[in-house]
Amino acid sequence: MNAIGVDVGGTKIAAGVVSPEGRLLNEVRYPTVNVRERLLSTIVETIMEVKRGYKVGGVCLAVPGFILARENKVWSAANLEAIEGIPLKEELSDRTGLPVTVENDANAAAWGEFRFGVGKDVDDLVFVTLGTGVGGGVISHGVLLRGARGMGGELGHITVQPAGPRCGCGNHGCLEALASGTAIERRAREVADERPDSALRRLATERTPLGGDVLDLARKGDEAAIEVLREAGTGLGIGLATFINIFDPKLIAIGGGVSEAGDLVLEPARRELLLRSHSPSRDLVEIRAATLGAEAGMVGAAALARDENGEYVLGV
Ligand SMILES: [Zn+2]
Repeated sequence: MNAIGVDVGGTKIAAGVVSPEGRLLNEVRYPTVNVRERLLSTIVETIMEVKRGYKVGGVCLAVPGFILARENKVWSAANLEAIEGIPLKEELSDRTGLPVTVENDANAAAWGEFRFGVGKDVDDLVFVTLGTGVGGGVISHGVLLRGARGMGGELGHITVQPAGPRCGCGNHGCLEALASGTAIERRAREVADERPDSALRRLATERTPLGGDVLDLARKGDEAAIEVLREAGTGLGIGLATFINIFDPKLIAIGGGVSEAGDLVLEPARRELLLRSHSPSRDLVEIRAATLGAEAGMVGAAALARDENGEYVLGV
C-alpha cells in the first residue's frame, strides 16, 4: 500500500504520498510554525491534504534532532523547539486516523537512499549528509541502526578534534563543527582574516561569505577558499575512516549542499581515510553521491511508516 512521509523541517513541512516502488505520487508543503499547537495542526493539515484521493496505510515523520524513535518522541531539536517532548504518535494518530511513527530525518534519508536511491543494490550503507548540520544513518545487513532508544546513527556528532570549534550540540570538534555548511562559513571568515591577499578576503570586506561563495572562489583557484574546503574534507575523511573501521560499509553515500563541492572536499577526505582506516575495507568501499536529493527524507520516512499492526507499510 502507499504510505505518507512527512519531512518536518525548521522552515517547511513537506508531506508526500509514496508508492511501494518509491514513487512520489503527491506532495504538499506548508511553512513551519515553531509554536506547539500551530505546528501540530499544520502537520495534520498537510497529511490530510496530501492524502486526499489516495489509499494510505501509515505515516512516518522525519524530524531533525535527537529522536527517541521507540517512544515516537523528539528529545531535542535545535531548530524546532516546539516539537520537543510531544507524544507525536498519540497526538497525530487520533487526529489523522492513521498510524503515525517518528524517525530522525537523516536516518529516514539513509533509508530512502537504501531502498530507492544510490544504495538500492547494497546491504551495508553509511549515509552522510553535509548540510547546515551533518546528519547520518547506518544500514548494516539491511537493518537501520537505531540503538537502544532510537538515537543511534548520529554520525555528525562524533568527536574529530577534541579541542576543535564548538558544535551546535554544545560539544567541541564534532564532525558537524568541521564539515557542515555552517562550519565552512565560520572557517571562511577566519581564513579571510589570516590571508589578506586572497579573493576570499576581498569578498569578506564587502559581505559575509556564504558556502556557495567559498565554492565559487575555490573553483576559480583562490588558495584561501581551497584551504577552507580542504580542511572540511580532512575533517570529513577522519570521520569516514572511523565509520569504515566500525561498520565496514560497502558504500558510503554523501548528500547535502556541501557535497556539491565534489573533489574539492572529497579528495582530501579520501587521502585522510586511507591513512586512518584499514584494508581491505578502505580499498573496497565505494564513495558516491546520494541520488534522491531533498526528497530522500520524505521517501525514506514513507518506507519506514507502519500500519496499525506495526508492520512496515511498504515492506522491505
Ligand atoms: Zn556536535
